[in-house]
Amino acid sequence: MSRRTPLIAGNWKKNMGHEETAGLIRAIAENIAGLDDVDVLVAPPFTSLTRAKKEIGDSRILLGAQNMHWEKSGAYTGEISAAMLLDVGCTHVILGHSERRILFKETSEMVDLKANAAVEAGLNPIVCIGETLEEREQGKTFEVVRDQLEKSLNNFRIKKTLPLSVTIAYEPVWAIGTGKTATPAQAQEVHEAIRQWIEDNFDKDVSIKLRILYGGSVKPENAKDLMEMPDIDGALVGGASLKAELFLPIITFGEPR
Ligand code: PEP
Repeated sequence: MSRRTPLIAGNWKKNMGHEETAGLIRAIAENIAGLDDVDVLVAPPFTSLTRAKKEIGDSRILLGAQNMHWEKSGAYTGEISAAMLLDVGCTHVILGHSERRILFKETSEMVDLKANAAVEAGLNPIVCIGETLEEREQGKTFEVVRDQLEKSLNNFRIKKTLPLSVTIAYEPVWAIGTGKTATPAQAQEVHEAIRQWIEDNFDKDVSIKLRILYGGSVKPENAKDLMEMPDIDGALVGGASLKAELFLPIITFGEPR
């Protein structure tokens, strides 16, 4: 288990209207009261954020969005700014998810602009990276991950400071929504390389403190083994975050409360 406080984040993707949002948040809030050694975050769709914030009330659940645009305002039809997310009570934003990179052609350069704008506005970005199955099979995992890190965090590299408000999520694309999870050893070796990259590009202190999440078919049955790895500091959970009976045991790493 790592020394950093773990973060279990639920990416709800394009699911959950107002009533479902309210019900799931109530179920999570009731069950995590008193659990103070893990941070819990939900990322509903934009349209459910205000309702989510209302239901969260004074519980410890953190609120995140699934995307944002880097410009503060202007003629960007369909886009949302960091200030707008702060306005509805978000503290976090997921950036560069592989579905955005693959389906919406989002590049690491765009993720970099977004991550920089998020931090400047006071939001905590969760920056997603990860290789495809083809890249893994060609032995390119580390090359791809390093390239995504370099380009997606370029503004921080120029400033020579990686703020601890940034979280990195390693999500092998072949493990997302497929039921195929990276083994704890496969995930750990990439997390260790990411931490080393942070040390090489920034400094040791930030590499020790910054959280790196694993994402890709995390379930109650595999959460404990993954979370026991020294460089895995929590999980970004898709499908299993939509049901309290699956998400809650992940928050407790597969252990009963
Ligand atoms: C995700 O979308 O970030 C994710 C990890 O999805 P799943 O848990 O369903 O694989």
